[in-house]
Amino acid sequence: MFKLRHLFSALSKWWRVPGQSPDVQKAFVLDPPLIVLSEKFFELSPEIIEALESWKIARGYLDPTEQEHRAYLLDPGLGPATYLTAEGCILWIDDGWGVQATRAFVYAAIRVGAKKTKVSQLLSLLPPAPSDASPCGECDGTGQYSAHGNLKSVSGEVIFLSCMYCGTLGWVSPNLDLALQSRFG
Ligand SMILES: [Zn+2]
Repeated sequence: MFKLRHLFSALSKWWRVPGQSPDVQKAFVLDPPLIVLSEKFFELSPEIIEALESWKIARGYLDPTEQEHRAYLLDPGLGPATYLTAEGCILWIDDGWGVQATRAFVYAAIRVGAKKTKVSQLLSLLPPAPSDASPCGECDGTGQYSAHGNLKSVSGEVIFLSCMYCGTLGWVSPNLDLALQSRFG
């Protein structure tokens, strides 16, 4: 079991993104929560839609946000609940996390969603590494941040979080600005 201060420390690192204060963490509660919608990033193939529909049925419960926004739950969340809309946008329910609809957050949402839903086709939505890509030095190219093994629970187990330095891609490129809120540019 984690002590709270470790959890907050871990979360503040998770939320750290290029150009953003390292101290960003959930410090207040928005009531009602804010719905944050990214630009359209993805074209969902019929195969991905079918897989997500199957997963939704297998999951066995209906989420009101899914129904209201024609979306699929990617992650009920330790942080904000995250969804992928049928139109190819990422939607977050932000109750105080300070979500920004940047590429880093969008790609991390897809990575986490593929793991949580087990719809592996989602990974095909992530951009391929360009020729000038280099491994992300913050996560050693894994996409999973652990402060190089130093982020640990009180019992000594290494904690892995989505690496927001590379948006969980595992690589960085001077031609991919992860702080942009559009898939173009
Ligand atoms: Zn990284």
